[in-house]
Amino acid sequence: MNANKQMIFCDFDGTITNSDNIIAIMKKFAPKEWDEIKNQVLSQEISIKEGVGKMFSLLPSKKKEAITEYILDHAEIREGFNEFVAFTKEEGIPLYIVSGGIDFFVEPLLEGMIEEENIYCNGSDFDGETINILWPNECDVDCDNDCGCCKPSIIRKLVKSDTYKIVIGDSITDLEAAKLADQVIARDFLIKKCEEHSIAFSPFETFYDVMDILKKRKVTA
Ligand SMILES: [Mg+2]
Ligand SMILES: [Zn+2]
Repeated sequence: MNANKQMIFCDFDGTITNSDNIIAIMKKFAPKEWDEIKNQVLSQEISIKEGVGKMFSLLPSKKKEAITEYILDHAEIREGFNEFVAFTKEEGIPLYIVSGGIDFFVEPLLEGMIEEENIYCNGSDFDGETINILWPNECDVDCDNDCGCCKPSIIRKLVKSDTYKIVIGDSITDLEAAKLADQVIARDFLIKKCEEHSIAFSPFETFYDVMDILKKRKVTA
C-alpha cells in the first residue's frame, strides 16, 4: 500500500473527544428549548444544519469566552490520539478532521495537534446578539441532506480517484462518509448503522486500537 495514496477522515465529537461537545454546551448554557430542537433533529423533522443553527441562536454572543473555557476544561481527548497523530505523520498519511462541531471550540481543542488547514468544521459569528453559525462546508450537488458540514462533499473535494479512504467515526453523521470509504473504523452508534447498511468496519475504543487496525492492514497490503 502506497502511503501517499491513503487519506484519513476523522470525526471530532464522540470520536476524538469522549463525548459530544454541542450537547455539553447546550446542557450547560442553553434555555430548555434546546431539548425540543434536539429531538426534532433526532426524529429527522428538521435537518442537522437547521437544528444546530437554531440551538446556537439560543445562546448570547457574549458567552463566547465562557463556553470556550468550559469546553477546554471539560472535554476529554480519547486515549492514544496524540500517538495516533504522530503515527500518521511518521507514515506520511494525510489526516483530516471532518466535524459537525463549531470552529470556536474544535480549533482550540486541537491546537498544537492538528494544523488548522486540515480541520473542516462549521464557522461562527459573534457580531449579533446571539451566536450565528456559518456553513463553509455545505453540501455539494451530489448531496441533498442539508448536512451543515457535509462530510461526503469534503471527501469528494480532497481525494483523487485512486485514494484509499479511511473514515473514523462514531455516529449517524458519519454514515454518508462511511458509505464512500474503503475502510471504516467505527465505535458506538456508527457500528449499528454500518451493520444495518452492510458496510464492513473495524470496531475501536481508543486510538491505540485504530493504530493496531491500520498497522495490521499495512502488513497484509
Ligand atoms: Mg461524532
Ligand atoms: Zn451533505
